[in-house]
Amino acid sequence: MHLSELLKKRSKMIKVGINGYGTIGKRVADAVSKQDDMEIVGVTKTRPTWEAKNAIKAGYKLFCGIPDNVNNFKEAGIELAGDINDLLGQCDIMIDCSPKKIGAENLEKYYKPQGIKAIYQGAVKHDAIGESFNAQSNYDSAKGKQNVRVVSCNTTGLSRVLGALDKAYGVKKARVVLVRRASDPGSSKSGPVDGIVPNPITVPSHHGPDVLTVLPKLNIVTSAFKVSSTFMHAHSLMIELDKEVSAEEVKELFKKTPRLLMVNSSEGLTSTAELMEFARDFGRPRYDMYENLVWEDSIGVEGNELYFFQAVPQESIVIPENIDCIRAMCSDVSAEESMEKTNKTLGIK
Ligand code: NAD
Repeated sequence: MHLSELLKKRSKMIKVGINGYGTIGKRVADAVSKQDDMEIVGVTKTRPTWEAKNAIKAGYKLFCGIPDNVNNFKEAGIELAGDINDLLGQCDIMIDCSPKKIGAENLEKYYKPQGIKAIYQGAVKHDAIGESFNAQSNYDSAKGKQNVRVVSCNTTGLSRVLGALDKAYGVKKARVVLVRRASDPGSSKSGPVDGIVPNPITVPSHHGPDVLTVLPKLNIVTSAFKVSSTFMHAHSLMIELDKEVSAEEVKELFKKTPRLLMVNSSEGLTSTAELMEFARDFGRPRYDMYENLVWEDSIGVEGNELYFFQAVPQESIVIPENIDCIRAMCSDVSAEESMEKTNKTLGIK
């Protein structure tokens, strides 16, 4: 490639900053690095932790997410490229991967005053942002938006299967019981260590309304438990369809649907524990799985009612969605083209 072509290509690259290089942030950073139409300008950490050191080792420029904490990095001997304000000035878009509701505070404090586009994650409320995203459900709605939230891991997992079923057969109503992992493997902060906790105690849970932020016409009610596991979430879905279909037809539909992977208990994949081992052998970084893992042999129908189980790899399922959301907000690439590109670069079938 000639130098002029190289420079032209580079000037078109979408410049991305990651605010919060934690579980989601580091995965998004690595996924962005694999795209030929975007580049990472830098990532932030708020404290001089091992992850801050790893970010530098991985080749990312490190910025301090809280300007008042810059000296803590100096004292720890970690070299910064600046603070969050320096990073903002160099980016087309920020991916906010900070915990809980901090994203909504960062919107007011940093992104809005600087007029910079930003993507937020699942814990930030839809109402604080005004637009939620799932690539298969509503890619085009993010076009031209300044602020968009990628829905949570559970909502992503539900939207993919329910969106595909609704499009193919019509979903009259969906009832879902979620079994949520207590904590991510890398965190020792939350529980339960033992026990099965209705969480939230109220039924319906907030997960159903969250699906409506990307599939607004769906009739869905959800309830949820939290259990002492770090290995993925699991869902039990009970769905009334507009018409009768066979289990075989549903299996065929799911096999054709992007970002769904069929797994079988008959092959020894009987729980999320075996699925984690399966993921470890799959060969992706950090044993990430970007797909819903649908138990093929759980798919059953009775009349127009459909039942099945799926597992949701919470740390990685939203990563391809963040990549597509960047393209939806910052380019004129279509949904199909973006998803295909993302799938190819991340090794998704
Ligand atoms: P995390 O705790 O692993 O990482 C959060 C990062 O943000 C850390 O690096 C932390 O240092 C940094 N941070 C803290 N305060 C900050 C601030 N004021 N400004 C900027 N950065 C700050 O959390 P996570 O699991 O990556 O979750 C991030 C978001 O992604 C949350 O909204 C969460 O709900 C969502 N999410 C998490 C998962 C999951 O399973 N972990 C799945 C889907 C969505």
